[in-house]
Amino acid sequence: MKISQLLGLRFKETPADCQITSHALMVRGGYIKNVGSGIISLYAPAKRIMQKIEAIIRDEMNRIGGQEVMLPVVMPAALWKESGRFDSVGSELLRFKDRGGNDMVLGMTHEEAVVHLVRGAAPSYSHYPFMVYQIQTKFRDEPRARAGLIRVREFTMKDAYSFHTSQEDLEEYYEECHKAYERIFARAGLPEAVSVKSDSGMMGGKVAHEFMLLNDVGEDTIIICASCDFRSNMEAAENIVEKPAGSPDEASDRHAVAKALEGAACPACGKKAITAKNGIEIGNIFQLGTKYSEAMGMQYTDKDDNLQYPIMGCYGIGVGRLAASVCEARHDKFGPIWPMSIAPWQVHLCALMSDTPEVSEAAAKIYGGLLKAGVEVIFDDRAVSAGVMFSDADLLGCPLRLIVSPKTCQRNAVEFVSRDKTLKIDLPLDLGNIDGLISAVNQQIVKQMEFSLPVLRL
Ligand SMILES: [Zn+2]
Repeated sequence: MKISQLLGLRFKETPADCQITSHALMVRGGYIKNVGSGIISLYAPAKRIMQKIEAIIRDEMNRIGGQEVMLPVVMPAALWKESGRFDSVGSELLRFKDRGGNDMVLGMTHEEAVVHLVRGAAPSYSHYPFMVYQIQTKFRDEPRARAGLIRVREFTMKDAYSFHTSQEDLEEYYEECHKAYERIFARAGLPEAVSVKSDSGMMGGKVAHEFMLLNDVGEDTIIICASCDFRSNMEAAENIVEKPAGSPDEASDRHAVAKALEGAACPACGKKAITAKNGIEIGNIFQLGTKYSEAMGMQYTDKDDNLQYPIMGCYGIGVGRLAASVCEARHDKFGPIWPMSIAPWQVHLCALMSDTPEVSEAAAKIYGGLLKAGVEVIFDDRAVSAGVMFSDADLLGCPLRLIVSPKTCQRNAVEFVSRDKTLKIDLPLDLGNIDGLISAVNQQIVKQMEFSLPVLRL
């Protein structure tokens, strides 16, 4: 891809409505464009990042036996009336009528649709256990849509649903899924993500975990023990200390609770080592039980010919929120520092003073060689200053950069640097044979991808 043809403007000034870094950088870097409150379009760089995250998720879901399906975005309300959620869920569920006057909903989660899909398709115990998942658009009518891709109304989500004939089997699978989630976040560039026990709220189950990126911009508060591995979210931790009475304002109330919890005794180890931290929720897993299978009449015949309700688990990851969270955790003041596994392009090729014949010839040859070798490369072929070129490259955040200039051509070399500044070398340039140069670039890509290879994470 040539940057002269890439859509999306890049600029210096932080827009007034961007309160967090990832939002500002993704607007300034030409990744996203706001369409309406919590409704966002993606330009190519963001779409490419999302596709790579989806590929990692798909790989890990398939590896734990998932089968990918597709459920509808628009559903008849009748389906949600079966589970009772048409009435019990608040206004975050968008309800409307179709042209025939029928009540409809926009999918914000898909338990009903998935039970509808598999109901009747797994009539015997021999069909169990199984897991289905999809990567789909969801709509949740959030009152406080903000922070770019972190809190939106329309978003892409991976949601998975498993079905079991015993609680033990669900628990075993839940554990496997927990491990798959750890691999997904590590491979996407967030190995520091932690899971915390949570209150499963409206999902209606008992055991649940949220995966969190600890970060000051996060809207969730996590209770952590500095002495052992006890972690919990606020709701589940309320039994640790009494909630301070008073404040009706949710945010300041939470702040007060967090403050009250500092230094409290840990329920696991007993030491007075509890601290409260902010976090961004990047995934969650729930043991749902039989809530949906019972409500919607999904049954199977067990070994003794008795009818039973399957026990369900469900597992979600917001793809865009994960992308924004990586940006939140991996950036400098100039732009995102995307990990190789999800970077929009692997290599950013800059041709400085490309009106110089040696530069344009060398850059064109390297560009062609990289494309031929299957390297994902964005080529800055514009006649712009080095300052503009480098600040744009910083905003696009590709992990590796090749710089061709009259100076590098003079010393028969190409500058090879990494976005994270750990690499800065000259690669010898021989226009008669650029194979060595291409292979040096490829070796560096392989090296930077190592952390994300599935085989290393098994
Ligand atoms: Zn502890």
